[in-house]
Amino acid sequence: MTRKITLNNLHADEIQKMLKNKEFSRLVPKTCSLCGNREGFDRRMFVVEGLQIKDRDDEKIHGILKDFLRQRMLIERICLKTYGPKWIIDTARCTKCFSTDVVYDIDWKDAEMWNRVGKESNMAGKELKNDFEAFKKKMAAGKRS
Ligand SMILES: [Zn+2]
Repeated sequence: MTRKITLNNLHADEIQKMLKNKEFSRLVPKTCSLCGNREGFDRRMFVVEGLQIKDRDDEKIHGILKDFLRQRMLIERICLKTYGPKWIIDTARCTKCFSTDVVYDIDWKDAEMWNRVGKESNMAGKELKNDFEAFKKKMAAGKRS
C-alpha cells in the first residue's frame, strides 16, 4: 500500500502561535551555516499530513521529507517537530544571506528548560546554567590556545 504524504503551508499568524509555544520552541534556529549569522531568521513551517507518531524515528521518512523540501522548495535544512498529534516541519532562512541552511539547537536562554533539567538531576536550574556557561567559556578558551 502506498501512503500519501502531503505538506500544508502554515500561515504567518499560525506560525506566530507555534513560536509562542514553549514545547515547540525548545529547538530554535541558532546559526546560519553559510555566513555564521546568529540572529534574525525568517520562519516557514509546514504541517505534514499522512504520517503517524510511530514514524517519528523512521530515518527513511526523514530522508524523503528532507529531499522533497530541498528539491521542491529549495530549503536546505529542516527541523522536524511534533506538536500534539501533528507533524510540523520547521525551517528558517537567514535574513542576511538568505541561506536556508540554518542549524537548530536547544534554546539555552529558556529558564524553564534549566529548571526542568535541574529537577531531573537534583540541581537548581540557575546552578546548572552557571555550570554550563563556565563549561562553554572553558571550551572557548581551550580552542583559542
Ligand atoms: Zn546567512
